[in-house]
Amino acid sequence: MNDIYSFVKYGDPCLDFVNSKVWNTRVQPFADLFVDYEHMVHWFRHLSIIDNDAVNRLLEGAINNPQAAQKAFDRILKLRDANYHILTAIAHQEVPSPQDLEILNSFYSDAMKHRQVAMTTEGMGWIWVDKVDKLDWMLWPIAYSTAVILTSERALRIRECNGCYWMFMDTSRNGLRRWCDMKTCGNRAKAHRHYERVKATNS
Ligand SMILES: [Zn+2]
Repeated sequence: MNDIYSFVKYGDPCLDFVNSKVWNTRVQPFADLFVDYEHMVHWFRHLSIIDNDAVNRLLEGAINNPQAAQKAFDRILKLRDANYHILTAIAHQEVPSPQDLEILNSFYSDAMKHRQVAMTTEGMGWIWVDKVDKLDWMLWPIAYSTAVILTSERALRIRECNGCYWMFMDTSRNGLRRWCDMKTCGNRAKAHRHYERVKATNS
């Protein structure tokens, strides 16, 4: 199943989450990595949001209760849709819709009910509790990460790539980056501009 992740880029979980789908139908091949609940669980593992034990428990839970798995899957898609709309609005300096914010907030408040301070292997830290029997608990870190980023200065650095339409965090000094990756999308755009110039000169 690994090859389907070949174009996964790593960044903030909330951006990776929306990048699990190609939203712009002009981009070919049009793809959605969340084919079904199982694919989605493996995607969360691939991004290290959950561990192998969690994968086994979630997939076992899905086999035992397919209806609950479908419901969890639908909830995950609902949050992803809302997140995408909010993040693209912010990237384009627009106001996100109240409906999308309401969806995010309901997921966020659900997440916070399960976040606790506890002793971890690295000292005191945050943990997620009461995951047992929940087939969509991996949304908690996503909703949390989205809320934290949106309310921080980093929100000003959320961008949508001019080439592939993926969401990315602009970490450049001047904050004017237009492509997720200069080596791929940036070069493609330069090559395209060059092609257009040559075409214009020759016509
Ligand atoms: Zn790109």
